[in-house]
This record gives sequence, C-alpha cells and structure tokens, in this order.
Amino acid sequence: MELVTSTFHNKVATNPFDDVLVERVFLFGQYIFFTYICFIIIKKTLKMDLVKIPTKTKKFNFQFTPESELRGQNLRNFVFAGNALFTVLNENTGNYVTFKVKKHKEDEVWFVTVLHGHNYVNIGTCFSDKKFKVKRDGHLNVEDQKVKVFTWFLDTFFNNQDKYPMVRVYHHGRCGACHKTLTTPESIKSGIGPVCGGKKRIK
Ligand SMILES: [Zn+2]
Repeated sequence: MELVTSTFHNKVATNPFDDVLVERVFLFGQYIFFTYICFIIIKKTLKMDLVKIPTKTKKFNFQFTPESELRGQNLRNFVFAGNALFTVLNENTGNYVTFKVKKHKEDEVWFVTVLHGHNYVNIGTCFSDKKFKVKRDGHLNVEDQKVKVFTWFLDTFFNNQDKYPMVRVYHHGRCGACHKTLTTPESIKSGIGPVCGGKKRIK
C-alpha cells in the first residue's frame, strides 16, 4: 500500500509539469491557428486586389470627361488629323459607337473603322471631298446601325453640331494625328498634341 501511494504521489507531482506543457502546446496551437487565419485573410485581400485589376476599362470610361469632348472646329480638325480615335455618344439613349479614321500615308484618303466587339472593322473610306463612301462588300453592310451612325455623323452632324446638343464626341486621350498620349491641358482640349498641332500651323 505504501508503495502504491508513493507511486501515486509521484504521478501527482509530475502532473503540474504536464499541465504547463499541455497549456504551452495549446497556446502554440492557437498561435499557429491565428497565423493561419491571418494568412488566409491577407491572401483573400490580395486576391480581391487582383480581381479589381480590370480598372483599365474604368479608366477608359473615365476619359469621357468634359475635357476630352470635341466640338466645333476642334472636332472637324481632329477627325481628319490622320490617326483619329473617338467615340460618339447619344446622351438621350446612352448609346455610343467608337470609330477610327486613319489617313493613307501619302494620299488624301481616310479609312474608317468601327469598334465591333473586340475588333475594328473597316466600314468605308473618305476621299479629299471628306464625304463618306460605305464599303459595299464589308463585314458590316449599309444597314448596320454603326455604319448608319458614321454616315449621319459626317453628312449631318459634322457641320451642324449645334443642332444636336445630346450628341457628344470624345477622344480617348490620344493625339488625333500621331496617336501619342495627350498630356498638356490645351492638347487634351483640342485632341491634337503640341508637336502635331505646331506642324499643322507651319504647313
Ligand atoms: Zn501628335
């Protein structure tokens, strides 16, 4: 009996040590757990940031500001400057169409393309008289709304802009002649960069 009690006492004596160990292991486990939770949260936050990345599209829309609106002679100069990218918006309906008007290297010929899905599709040409000729065998036919919009834009709107205050035209922050990013406030207003604008004046 004496021996059993002694063994028992011994066991009791070692128990406090075991408790501390258990507690430490438990705390360590808790530490690992919280570190893991933090890791998951950080990872999720980073992932959310990655998801947010298509801000490029937002930036694109953001450029349709009063500063990038083309009107009057500025618009007429811009469209035939050689490398014009612009969007025509109807404020009443919210509909818009994006066009590119690119000049031939030497000749007085401008090629008109329209943003159709992800691609620019050739819809016709303008010659030195600056009248639009629809491409007959093109991807889009004469009856396509986008083709109709450009025809209307050039034939009706171009020289009578005041009659249509709901129609707004915006450049995309790039020079209408060389397509470089516009940086100065004056060039953002006119759509033509200082270098290209200067060149034109000399000519
Ligand atoms: Zn330029």
